[in-house]
Amino acid sequence: MQLQGKTAVITGSTSGIGLGIARELAKAGANVVLNSFSDTEEDHARAAEIADVTGVDAKYVQADMSNGDDCRRLIVAAGGCDILVNNAGIQHVAPIQDFDPKKWDAIIAINLSSAFHTTAAAVTGMRERGWGRIINVASAHGLTASPYKSAYVAAKHGILGLTKTVGLETAKDPITCNAICPGYVLTPLVEAQIPDTMKEYGMSREDVINKVMLERQPSKQFATVEELGGTAVFLCSDAAAQITGTSISVDGGWTAQ
Ligand code: NAD
Repeated sequence: MQLQGKTAVITGSTSGIGLGIARELAKAGANVVLNSFSDTEEDHARAAEIADVTGVDAKYVQADMSNGDDCRRLIVAAGGCDILVNNAGIQHVAPIQDFDPKKWDAIIAINLSSAFHTTAAAVTGMRERGWGRIINVASAHGLTASPYKSAYVAAKHGILGLTKTVGLETAKDPITCNAICPGYVLTPLVEAQIPDTMKEYGMSREDVINKVMLERQPSKQFATVEELGGTAVFLCSDAAAQITGTSISVDGGWTAQ
């Protein structure tokens, strides 16, 4: 159990990639703190289930990642944060002239600024405890663009800049900061884009999946949340101690093109 005794905070971890990463970190022995903006019985039950299955401590902390104070409160409420996974993210698809400015602000706040706040709150404790791993879930859209995703692409390019900067600021500490850049993963976030993209391109659901989404992904397969969790566990391992300020693509070859 390589991560025994470490505590991992994973933002936006009630579904999709965040939950997948939380499960894999717990399997590797880390105690996990799940998070989202809601506060339901189901949210707490999900954490209890991880604790039951893996034997680690797991809890759920409500905090809205669109609010800087909440981001910082999450780190305090976690009672220690050795591994920080900045994963919370939302998407909105529209041509720039029709892009709702409120959606722009929300995407920049949740997908980018939240990582600034949580990292600022967590890094001092990591230095004091002499170990830390910061993992930002970016995207293939941190390296390339697609039409109609102006805010998302801007936020994801931004988080790669933040990753490099924090990697440099922590380079002399036993702390690393890296990004994971997934291609398409079939999570609720991607499901939600399908109807809008069908409308935008006048296509069927099947055509949006095969001709728009997986068209960019040479493997012609969605990446899985388990694969992303495994990548996060690797970044927390001793073998990854000198990997910092960079990104790992898990995108079936998308960004090799
Ligand atoms: P998802 O919708 O399944 O999960 C998003 C999580 O963020 C949920 O737990 C949701 O409750 C939480 N969240 C949303 N708003 C929040 C807020 N204000 N405060 C706290 N939590 C909030 O989406 P996903 O596909 O698992 O995406 C997770 C991350 O992976 C995002 O940053 C996304 O941009 C990135 N990503 C996803 C894909 C993909 O294909 N699914 C590809 C590349 C990158």
